[in-house]
Amino acid sequence: MTLHVHKYGGTSVGTADKIQNVAQKLIDEKSATGNDLVVVVSAMSGETNRMTELAKKMQVTPSAKQMDVLLSTGEQVTISLLCMALEELDQRAVSYTGSQVKIITDDAHTKARIEDIHTDRIQADLAQGKIVVVAGFQGITAEGAITTLGRGGSDTTAVALAAALKADECRIYTDVDGVYTTDPRVEPKARRLDKITFEEMLEMASLGSKILQIRAVEFAGKYNVPLRVLSTFVEGDGTLITYEDEDMEKALISGIAFNRDEAKVTLAGVPDMPGVASAILKPISNANIEIDMIVQNIAEDKTTDFTFTVHRNDYKNTVQILQSICTELGAEKVIGDDKIVKVSIVGVGMRSHAGIASQMFSALADEGINIQMISTSEIKISVVVDEKYLELAVRTLHESFGLSQE
Ligand code: ASP
Ligand code: MG
Repeated sequence: MTLHVHKYGGTSVGTADKIQNVAQKLIDEKSATGNDLVVVVSAMSGETNRMTELAKKMQVTPSAKQMDVLLSTGEQVTISLLCMALEELDQRAVSYTGSQVKIITDDAHTKARIEDIHTDRIQADLAQGKIVVVAGFQGITAEGAITTLGRGGSDTTAVALAAALKADECRIYTDVDGVYTTDPRVEPKARRLDKITFEEMLEMASLGSKILQIRAVEFAGKYNVPLRVLSTFVEGDGTLITYEDEDMEKALISGIAFNRDEAKVTLAGVPDMPGVASAILKPISNANIEIDMIVQNIAEDKTTDFTFTVHRNDYKNTVQILQSICTELGAEKVIGDDKIVKVSIVGVGMRSHAGIASQMFSALADEGINIQMISTSEIKISVVVDEKYLELAVRTLHESFGLSQE
């Protein structure tokens, strides 16, 4: 028997009509394929935000525990409505909240991690031909407290259920029809990818393609759950996220990712001696500021320049902290720029091909785009450029690596 786990996001279940549309789709699929179906749903679109605003009216910082009690109700609404819609169409269905299934998590409220899933009840329901509808985004601790998995967490619920039930495929239905070579709003010639590897998807997701919760992709990779992203509203096969195969290695680059929210800071004229890098970065991490790229120049005159990037929201705070480190270390000055972006090329094909970096850099140079920083990993090369070049850089690289639609 083939088992599919489907997940429908907030925009797919945002109105009564849309929930009825999902019910009809599920019934059509069941009768066409005979597949067993487990369905994970998000809260109706806007609900999680609406409740978060309400909470802020009660308390400036509501406790994470109470936020979980509140936010988990959003998905509970959707599971009941979807079951009603299915029953109205004569399909037997059963709804479960996370705590009813027993999706056991740790007690990190608002960002809990799934530890265990009890599957016996779901399996019994499937054996009776029911469609099983499960609330995404939530679980319960061993002590019985309600938890949630972080924004976008329904994706992770779906993947975790698929892994626990050994499903044949986990399908994430959303409002886009797949993963694209880059953001079509920046490059209209962007193409939908038929396939992408877990590793590439992680790079694309963390670089700003906000289609899937990163944790869900990690989970799918770890448990080898074939994951497909596809549209609720238009027909198509979407994009399969899976392990590397030969086809994929043929392509040099799978996509161009970018991130607009970056800022760059430099501590110039730092004494070149052991312990300096940690003296600079420790106070930054103590302030919970995440650092992305780091570059340190070689020292010619016993001093060096130390540059790194942070999220734009952390820019002011970072500069302030660096000012005081500057005095402490007797460095020269703090320089910053919050008008920069990061553009990256991503692809497993890079592993087996030389010359990708120079192709990237010369394509950018031909357009007169100055590269301010570079960082590389096995399957990614990122550059920092002035934000005014973002669109040009993305389109140039998209074209140069042959990703554009014919
Ligand atoms: N409702 C939650 C959110 O808006 C979880 C989800 O939709 O995945 O983040
Ligand atoms: Mg989502």
